Amino acid sequence: MDKEKNISVLGSTGSIGTQTLEIARTYPQIKIRAISANSNIALLEQQAREFKPELVAVMDKEKAKELKIKLADTNVRVVSGKSGLSEAAAINSADTVVTAVVGISGLEPTIEAIKAKKNIALANKETLVTGGHIVTALAKEYGVSIIPVDSEHSAIFQSMQGCNDKREIKRILLTASGGPFFGKKRNELKNITPEQALKHPNWDMGAKVTIDSSTLVNKGLEVIEAKWLFNIEVDKIKVLIHRQSIVHSMVEYVDNAVIAQLGAPDMRLPIQYALTYPERLIMQDNELDFTKYPMLTFDEPDTDTFFALELAMRAGREGGILPTIFNSADEAAVELFMQRKISYLGISDAIQKAMESVKNIPNPTLDEILEADKYARTLVG
Ligand code: NDP
Ligand code: MG
Repeated sequence: MDKEKNISVLGSTGSIGTQTLEIARTYPQIKIRAISANSNIALLEQQAREFKPELVAVMDKEKAKELKIKLADTNVRVVSGKSGLSEAAAINSADTVVTAVVGISGLEPTIEAIKAKKNIALANKETLVTGGHIVTALAKEYGVSIIPVDSEHSAIFQSMQGCNDKREIKRILLTASGGPFFGKKRNELKNITPEQALKHPNWDMGAKVTIDSSTLVNKGLEVIEAKWLFNIEVDKIKVLIHRQSIVHSMVEYVDNAVIAQLGAPDMRLPIQYALTYPERLIMQDNELDFTKYPMLTFDEPDTDTFFALELAMRAGREGGILPTIFNSADEAAVELFMQRKISYLGISDAIQKAMESVKNIPNPTLDEILEADKYARTLVG
């Protein structure tokens, strides 16, 4: 890559954020112009000293004050709160924003970034789940691209390179590892603890997405994410359980050709590709050794046990505020589960109850989405 790439990383202290910085460490053409986190200022300080961004945004205002003192000997500007995050999203010196915050908190800064004409390397799937119609329309209006970081969507995107006519796409085959509880029935999942749900077989990710993977909520969110990214109907997206996480997803064409992207489970590839597309850069390690995977398996998802996937498909089909209700009920329920206030099965139950309690609003405004988010949280308690 000859050209410099200037990026702002929202959520730089998280799993995706730290791996993004690892890539920037390998490829100094990638310049870090802004970083942000919720409260982890110890890591933010280290990152600020190493990557010398112009701006650091901390959501927590008290922590921001502390960080300002710690970084007083540098030129780095520290900002705080929602407006600080927006500033990091819209910073002049960046051309691309990596959205790696978790949850619906990613929606507003992503909108700010698009309005400031930044390309988006999108990890924060909740942005498209809750505000897909707004975000994709804005991206069109401002002429910016949204490139997926999520491994499945990156695989789909890669499998669509060379497709000249989108009408040739028959369907998307979205793979899912199945999580730690694959093969289990509801009565075996009653007493699952946060520790058990946090053990993902193939990926090392942030807590929320790991719990969501175990309930198949994550796959549900990804179906809706794919709907918006690739402008495809929910019913043309087929979820397949693939335990090994080697085939990262596939595209089936009208002539039944199936094009897939394979690789070792390693988020650095989709992150890197989102930053360098259409170029590919060398990855030094973690080549896929096929002989270690003599068997790649594919199964139907068990939607009786993991019925949240069906709920997400419904939310995706019906649209409106329903996907926000689905997502925000899940965010609230996962938090309660982590605090041991509700059971593991209570997560999917809470989502179902929330979806049953609302009247849908078609084509919601940003304010209506944010209201729906609050309302879903009150329903979960
Ligand atoms: P993490 O929990 O590891 O990191 C989240 C980041 O967001 C941290 O930097 C955190 O700061 C910051 N943050 C949390 N809450 C807020 C808030 N309210 N306002 C501002 N910043 C906040 O998450 P992941 O990296 O795992 O996931 C990030 C996104 O990427 C999610 O949407 C997830 O679904 C998606 N994704 C993740 C994958 C992975 O491999 N991890 C794979 C595919 C998609 P602090 O450290 O201070 O808490
Ligand atoms: Mg994924």
